[in-house]
Amino acid sequence: MQGGGSFLNFLYPARCVGCDLWYDYGSRLMWCSVCEVQSSSKSGRIRLVDGVKIFSARCFDVPVVARFVHALKYESIVDVALIGARWMQLNFETITQQAKFKKIILIPVPLHKRRLNHRGFNQAELIAHALCVAQSASEIFVETDVLLRTRNTAPQAGATEKQRTKQLKGAFQVVRNVDPDAVYVIIDDVITTGSTVGECVRAMRQAGARNLCALTIASTSEN
Ligand SMILES: [Zn+2]
Repeated sequence: MQGGGSFLNFLYPARCVGCDLWYDYGSRLMWCSVCEVQSSSKSGRIRLVDGVKIFSARCFDVPVVARFVHALKYESIVDVALIGARWMQLNFETITQQAKFKKIILIPVPLHKRRLNHRGFNQAELIAHALCVAQSASEIFVETDVLLRTRNTAPQAGATEKQRTKQLKGAFQVVRNVDPDAVYVIIDDVITTGSTVGECVRAMRQAGARNLCALTIASTSEN
């Protein structure tokens, strides 16, 4: 398909989501090799929130990474979820290896239904499905009816972790039985203070989930 891709690129050159330049990548991808290299100029990180590992594939402080996340979330360029899933691949492999053949269930951080109606899609859900598609083996599922967001709390700019945690308390509810033997992976686009993912983890744990971790496209370098 390489040749065909180049031919199509010649006819319909693609515009990079990251830098907005026309480019020829030899295939119909949505971003250029320069942005790809830049995206990993600062590495992602693994954080620990409430004893739960949170893997982040990229650093949100890198402008091109922030640009991609913005494109997905606010400009509805939904194919960016595929790029995110590709970046998350290495971390996801680590998670599947550590799961040791247990069933893996991806839980996208839910949006409140009012915000979902407004945006039309949940970016975390798109990322989770893109990750699932990229995996051919293992038992991996996406479940969107386990964890619900029952309170709509818009993030306050500049809120500290403590303020945000207080604001989010009880914002998520588990409405279905969880499987104590499964590995639950909370999926989100960006983690900043860690409060949102932390609150999801607490709700899942209270409902009986024993194996929990989280995976995001990007993380801020501080917090
Ligand atoms: Zn680019």
